[in-house]
Amino acid sequence: MTELTELLPVLDDDMTKCVKCGMCHAHDALYLASLDESLGTRGQLMLLNAAVREGAQVGDLFTEKMFCSLNSYDPQTNCPTGTPVLKILAQVRQHLLKTRGLQGLADMFGERVLAAVSASAAARQRAAVLAKVAAAELPAGNQWTDALRPLSDAGALAPATALELLPEVSPAKGTGRVAYLVGSLTNYAAPEIAQATVKVLNAAGYEVVTPKAQKCPGDLFVTLGDLDTAAALAAHNAAVFAEFDTVVTSCAATGAAVKNGLAGDDSGLSAKVRDVTELLAEGFAPRARLDRKVAYHDDCQLRAGMKVTKEPKALLTAAAGSNFVELAAADSASGAGEGPFSLFFAPLAQKITAKKVERIVESKADVVASGNVAAVLHLNEALERAGASARMKHTVELLAEVC
Ligand code: SF4
Repeated sequence: MTELTELLPVLDDDMTKCVKCGMCHAHDALYLASLDESLGTRGQLMLLNAAVREGAQVGDLFTEKMFCSLNSYDPQTNCPTGTPVLKILAQVRQHLLKTRGLQGLADMFGERVLAAVSASAAARQRAAVLAKVAAAELPAGNQWTDALRPLSDAGALAPATALELLPEVSPAKGTGRVAYLVGSLTNYAAPEIAQATVKVLNAAGYEVVTPKAQKCPGDLFVTLGDLDTAAALAAHNAAVFAEFDTVVTSCAATGAAVKNGLAGDDSGLSAKVRDVTELLAEGFAPRARLDRKVAYHDDCQLRAGMKVTKEPKALLTAAAGSNFVELAAADSASGAGEGPFSLFFAPLAQKITAKKVERIVESKADVVASGNVAAVLHLNEALERAGASARMKHTVELLAEVC
């Protein structure tokens, strides 16, 4: 059992902002999928508030509720009082990780994770990326490397990383110069997205510098409650990218975490980060037409997390012309979630994903674009399993076909 009263001075001001209005419900994929108040943002905050103020002893059930989060920016963005939901949840998870220990969390979630990775290639991929980051990018003696080693699966990762494949400098004919923050899922599991990113930026006239010394931006560890590791990674990347004015990313989850400073003080990196489509909107012109029906999944990490709303769709519409088709409820969640959600809560993730797959099939799109790498990988597996012919691609992969 764990006591939370020492969190009161840390969370008091932020928790007080929540007036329990419930306006986040309509933008809360977990609440909408479960209709369970305790899995929604308001319910999580009410439980937390009571536990912190009343000095209650909390156990597994409370811990489970605090880790049950898509880490979506939608509830927070639509909160009229500006309650910093993701920051609050990150801090309470940090407390739970510290007080229960990694072994305590492994006892709770370990079997679920093993079941998820044995049932899903996408889950295996995400788990293997996490294990790889811990083994290759964290200092010796960290608590994660040994704990995550059982999830290492070299077969789930790409044969070469994006940082191995990309040159440090990719020149272009234009005058713009940007640095590229790759993100861990792209680096280890989807380097083709990184290659497409550099290709389209070059086509738009940007020289792209991809510093080899960059590391995981820390977002994975924020979702796991290890804010110290996340802060150390953020500080490392802040130094690596210090000389650049513009830092571009093609992973919306990475971009959103950096832009919102979730990993802690990053010495101004958050102010410099932009999604690749923001830059392309200023200088990318397709040279050909996409010859199949294209739709767009409007992921919360890009839309609500990075506040990038118009650019991806405008670029895709320009590239696809009359082949662009609308996806019903395009802004509904994919079920991928950030961090361990789809590993810890696979049945709930599958419920959300099934609805998304249904809408993709109804759209009759051949390919659905998204700026969130996790959503691309997660939905591709779900579409294949459902026997659907449509496939996911990152937005830049489609643009790279016509540049
Ligand atoms: S988080 Fe915001 S929207 Fe949700 S119940 Fe609290 S005040 Fe209302």
